[in-house]
Amino acid sequence: MKFSSEKLSESSGEFITKSAEETIDLGRELGRLIEPPLVVLLCGELGAGKTTLTKGIAVGLGVENRNQVNSPTFVLINEYQGRCKIYHVDLYRLDTLKDLASIGLEDILRDDAVVMIEWGEKVPFIWENSLIAEISDLGGDERKIKLSWTNHEKRSVIRRPSAETKTEVGQ
Ligand code: ADP
Ligand code: MG
Repeated sequence: MKFSSEKLSESSGEFITKSAEETIDLGRELGRLIEPPLVVLLCGELGAGKTTLTKGIAVGLGVENRNQVNSPTFVLINEYQGRCKIYHVDLYRLDTLKDLASIGLEDILRDDAVVMIEWGEKVPFIWENSLIAEISDLGGDERKIKLSWTNHEKRSVIRRPSAETKTEVGQ
């Protein structure tokens, strides 16, 4: 497999994708590994591939129709059901911290869900269990995707690659 779960589980790692489909593949593998509660911050310019990666993660989390996964530009938060609840937030239009309070982020963060936030760089704080995906456009269809866990030691949200579906890393 191109994007091995071992590599995806490291505290940080960089991946190159050469097409949107490859970014979806990467997201799908990642989505298979993660468990709620988890915040995924997706950072990068417009057109970098944040929504594309989000689609893949949603598919890996069990959302059957990837076309359901689109940037929630007007409602700000979309909700999908996979093997867990998934929230998809897009902060493109967010300008102030006051707005952040008004979109109901706090409520969804209390839920046992995977919360994916596009324009994650606009969030002025960080959660203990979160995964940061920084996407840069290398030109053409090439993208660099840097994944890092904010708290690799304490995360209890990702399965060990060898543990298959039942056992989770936890403490
Ligand atoms: P964002 O949400 O960051 O604004 P999108 O995921 O909506 O970006 O759009 C990314 C665009 O770039 C899509 O049109 C997609 O087809 C294209 N693209 C080309 N190569 C890649 C790649 N390697 N990974 C992701 N998207 C890519
Ligand atoms: Mg987007």
